[in-house]
Amino acid sequence: MNLTDPFRDADGDKLREECGIFGVLGARDAAALTALGLHALQHRGQEAVGITSFDGQEFYSRKGIGHVAQNFSSGSAIAELPGMMAAGHVRYSTTGGSGLRNVQPLFADLASGGFAIAHNGNISNATTLKRDLVNKGAIFQSTSDTEVIIHLVATSRYPTLPDRFVDALRLVEGAYSLICMTPLGMIACRDPLGIRPLVMGKLGDAVVFASETVALDVVGAEFVREVEPGEMIQVDLDGQISSHRPFGSPAARPCIFEHVYFSRPDSILNGHSVYEVRKAIGAQLAIEAGVDADLVIPVPDSGTPAALGYARESGIPFELGIIRSHYVGRTFIQPSDGARNADVKRKHNANRALVEGKRIVLIDDSIVRGTTSLKIVQMMRDAGAREVHFRVASPPTEHSCFYGVDTPERSKLLAARMDIEAMARFIQADSLAFVSIDGLYRAVGEARRNDGCPQYCDACFTGDYPTALTDLAERNAHGQLDLAVNKVA
Ligand code: AMP
Repeated sequence: MNLTDPFRDADGDKLREECGIFGVLGARDAAALTALGLHALQHRGQEAVGITSFDGQEFYSRKGIGHVAQNFSSGSAIAELPGMMAAGHVRYSTTGGSGLRNVQPLFADLASGGFAIAHNGNISNATTLKRDLVNKGAIFQSTSDTEVIIHLVATSRYPTLPDRFVDALRLVEGAYSLICMTPLGMIACRDPLGIRPLVMGKLGDAVVFASETVALDVVGAEFVREVEPGEMIQVDLDGQISSHRPFGSPAARPCIFEHVYFSRPDSILNGHSVYEVRKAIGAQLAIEAGVDADLVIPVPDSGTPAALGYARESGIPFELGIIRSHYVGRTFIQPSDGARNADVKRKHNANRALVEGKRIVLIDDSIVRGTTSLKIVQMMRDAGAREVHFRVASPPTEHSCFYGVDTPERSKLLAARMDIEAMARFIQADSLAFVSIDGLYRAVGEARRNDGCPQYCDACFTGDYPTALTDLAERNAHGQLDLAVNKVA
């Protein structure tokens, strides 16, 4: 167990922070709508789910390990959550028995009454804040960084809850999209840089907040607008909405990886269709890294829109050369390397009749550890492909994310360890190329600014982190991180 990191469980397992959040106020079937909304956000976290509701008097909560459908498909589960206000959370959380206490929304009885919080993102100074709070006597119930916010709200000296909330968030660094419930209503808030997404919708008289527009679609809500970076929106129980900007208006830096991989393609993000952006990245990739081949084949499903764009731009036919089983979860979101390796094989199978004797270009959205690409290239060769070229619809992932996308530590990122030629040899491809960072910006409809203030958080590709990383700096000072990774050529 790592004693200097209070966010590790007793078994040494570290919480990951991929999440989706959903909240609704003013609807008769608030909990059922929340379950439906979370179901549409299931891709953002598949290990645990929780919903909290409020009926004007009491808060009710139900949490479970596993998918939304496993935990909230029965009428009796929803009946445990009465009231016209509810919020919920899906997460990729720790494994093991202690997991349930980390499942959100987290809830506390504060001096001002009940307080429930659902958080998407990752606080980059949570360890430091937690240590101070513990030294002052705070007793933590979970190993989730989100609980730090609850303790900061509880100990703030401001009189009203919204002021305490802002006071707490001023101490917090990193990424947070939050949906909170109090006896007075709902508060939705996005960190000053707007790193993680959060949108607002309307369903009749009800107000809805969700990580992605796809969750609004599924419950039949109309998209109103994004919660702006640094904005705090309060909705009273009678539906009165007020907007506040307690953190000023620094230039926003939403996460560009949401466009590359994380968001669902049918969502609208930062005003752009995720699907269209992914196709544009594929087209850009074809312009930058074209290759003579017979077929363009997506690594399903994450590479499909980019492969369509690549095929259209290059004129090479698009074909489904890999068929995916829909009964296996995402490859990445499994706790151990062993499970991940077995999953790749169960998940994908070569369409041998199509691939045999062909020169193929495989398209995937990203390479992280290289596990998937190595297996897929091998699978194509086993199926008789004559040449296997690999094209990636993002720049090399060279840096870890500290803002809520689960990435392994830097030493496990293939692109941090190897240059592109060495990566190509590692995955055994005939050639390998990535879209450039400028090309990626072009695809999201922006020219990348080089004045030190890019429009997105692209830290996983560039190492340009838009906030301080206090915990990382501290761990580094203790010699616990191998940030200085030597590349092999
Ligand atoms: P790897 O096998 O480690 O190289 O992972 C690459 C695969 O994982 C790609 O097919 C991506 O679609 C997917 N992927 C990339 N980043 C993530 C993430 N943060 N969470 C889950 N899956 C991811």
